[in-house]
Amino acid sequence: MAEGAASKPRRGAGRGAGSRGAAGRTSAADANGVGAAGAAADIGVRLASLEISRAWLVDPASGREGPGELVVQDGMIEAVTWLEGADADGIDDAGVVVAPGFIDLHAHFREPGFEDAETIASGSAAAAHGGFTTVCLMPNTSPPIDQAGVLAGIRAAAVASGSPIEVLVYGTVTAGRGGETLAELGELADAGAVGFSDDGAPVRSADILRNALLYAAMLGRAIVDHPEESSLTVGAEANEGLVATVLGLKGWPAAAEESAVARDLAVLADVVADQPGARLHLTHLSVPGSIQRVREAKAAGLPVTCDVTPHHLALSDEWLAGARRFAWAADERHGIADPWRDHAITAEPYDPALRVNPPLRRPADVLACLRGLADGTVDAMATDHAPHTSVDKDVEFGLAANGISGIETALGLVLEAVAAGELGLMRAIDLLTAGPARVLGERLGRTVGLIEGAPANLVVFDRGATWDVTPETLLSRGKNSPLLGRALSGRVLLTVAGGRIAHVDDGFAERPG
Ligand SMILES: [Zn+2]
Repeated sequence: MAEGAASKPRRGAGRGAGSRGAAGRTSAADANGVGAAGAAADIGVRLASLEISRAWLVDPASGREGPGELVVQDGMIEAVTWLEGADADGIDDAGVVVAPGFIDLHAHFREPGFEDAETIASGSAAAAHGGFTTVCLMPNTSPPIDQAGVLAGIRAAAVASGSPIEVLVYGTVTAGRGGETLAELGELADAGAVGFSDDGAPVRSADILRNALLYAAMLGRAIVDHPEESSLTVGAEANEGLVATVLGLKGWPAAAEESAVARDLAVLADVVADQPGARLHLTHLSVPGSIQRVREAKAAGLPVTCDVTPHHLALSDEWLAGARRFAWAADERHGIADPWRDHAITAEPYDPALRVNPPLRRPADVLACLRGLADGTVDAMATDHAPHTSVDKDVEFGLAANGISGIETALGLVLEAVAAGELGLMRAIDLLTAGPARVLGERLGRTVGLIEGAPANLVVFDRGATWDVTPETLLSRGKNSPLLGRALSGRVLLTVAGGRIAHVDDGFAERPG
């Protein structure tokens, strides 16, 4: 952690003595402070007082990062101070970092219908553990969120959870996610739907997509599509290529995604001629052709945005074979990375936790996605947090449900890319905060940033501290992570949403000042 970073969260009335931490440790809490034993009870409580000194502040909204101090009083950001000269000595971006709370454009909390895998309450706890203060939930629940009443039930569950995490909800594009007729988009919008998606599956037909884009535009909402040409993915298990061939898994071609992206963009171009307010968001892009088509569409002025997941940015199909090196570490001097030739196999093959839709791609595909992040083609990182039960996941690879429980490991994977020099820290945080905020636009209903006088939406994490990913440390009910057993850096110390405590790390209170 940053040398001398001092922090002091307090709840309850009044302001405690301003204790400063000794060099090299975080000091936190007095008798009235946030205690480790009482951490769970503190969730949802208004943050009365917090002083973070000598930390690294990152504020993508203002384009500024550097040594600084931050004070929260009664849930509001009271002061943001940028340190200069001697005051800034010894503070760098390798220790305690303070950033706006993360915004996830794509998460599955499984309620209603699949509460064994996740609930609004457990998902909110997991999100806060991952540094997220806002989540946008996909509507492929049971029943699906295709009616206002279902959406209202989710909002009620969010309130009942006691978590201050901001839960935003997408409605379905089609009734029952059936792909045949439009859902009641107007009713869903009135009930608070921030957009529409049939995620889990693509919007089935170009005709439906066209009507959905037109209608959603009138409601000021985007259509969020999961681009997949389903006729190319029947029975598909792994990215089509060397790894799938050697492992005997059915290939999932890049063309299945790229052709769907092309269809969607062609329909969008057609629609905006009549309805300039139409907006399309393409989620979890994973292949170079998709990124390039979005790049060209943006250059042509089409209103399209897109995201990439942290697992598609750090992991590759080599992991299915048992490699555990990050994608950028693969050796591609010979054209196609080969984990067997490189003696990179260190784990058992066929870990079903790695089965995901779209599949993990080749290292070269990952690098194309990283370039899309760096040059602004990709607007956001979204987790596609997809928790599953052991019953659905701990089975033969080809029978396992698709998805990774990823909302808690997103920051750690992103920081791996930063540490490897693949992405700047500012851009990485931008893709988790201001980027998704720009995609949501006025649907977010607030301004993102370290802004004096605004309600505190913050994450405090320590790049110098690691945490072990285990079934016990994951707060999600979904333990389906390919990162189990691994230590990730960027331990989240504190998450504050809407001025209220959403997550406190045990260690944050165990080191009194
Ligand atoms: Zn999807």
